[in-house]
Amino acid sequence: MNADILRRFVRDIPDLPKPGILFRDITPLLADPEALKLAVDAMAAPFAGKEIDVVAAAEARGFIFAAPLALRLGAGFVPIRKPGKLPFDRNSFRYELEYGADELEVHVDGVSKGENVLLVDDLLATGGTMEACCRLLEQCEANIIGCSFLIHLVPLGGQDRLNPYTSHSVLRYD
Ligand code: IMP
Repeated sequence: MNADILRRFVRDIPDLPKPGILFRDITPLLADPEALKLAVDAMAAPFAGKEIDVVAAAEARGFIFAAPLALRLGAGFVPIRKPGKLPFDRNSFRYELEYGADELEVHVDGVSKGENVLLVDDLLATGGTMEACCRLLEQCEANIIGCSFLIHLVPLGGQDRLNPYTSHSVLRYD
C-alpha cells in the first residue's frame, strides 16, 4: 500500500524543536523521485475532478507540495506568506499562538471572490496554521474546497479546528 511505502521515507527526529517533541522529517521522501511522485499523487487524488481554480499554501513546506498539486489539478498556485515577504498589496490575518501572535498574508489579487481554493500543507499538527490560512482566504471570500496534507499528527487535534472543511491526509500518526 502506498501509505506504507511513504511512511518508510519519513524520518523521526526525537526532541526537536524541544525535549519530548518527535519531529517528522520529510526530507528523505522529498529526495526520492518515486516517493515524491507517490506523495503528490496521493495528496491530489481526493480532489481530482473537482473544479479547483487555485491551490494555496503557507510557506515554507506547504509550497513544496502545492505547486505540483496545482499542476496536477489544472489550477494556479498562490503563496501565503509571513508579513513583509509579498511584494504587492496584501490581505492579512493575525492569529494567536500559545506564546504571542503571528500573521499570514496573501496578495489582494491572489484569490478572488468565489474562486474555488484547495489549501495544502505538508503536515497537520495543532491546526493553527491551516485554520489561519482558511480564515485569511475566507476574508477574501474564496470558496474553500478542502485541505490536503501529507501527514496528520492525530493526537494534536488539528482536525477539530478545520471543521467544517473537507480535510484529507495521506499518512496518519496516532
Ligand atoms: P500546526 O499549525 O500546529 O498544525 O503545525 C503545522 C505546521 O508546522 C506545518 O506548516 C508544518 O510544516 C510544521 N510542523 C509542525 N510539526 C512538524 C513536524 O513534526 N514535521 C514537519 N513539520 C512540522
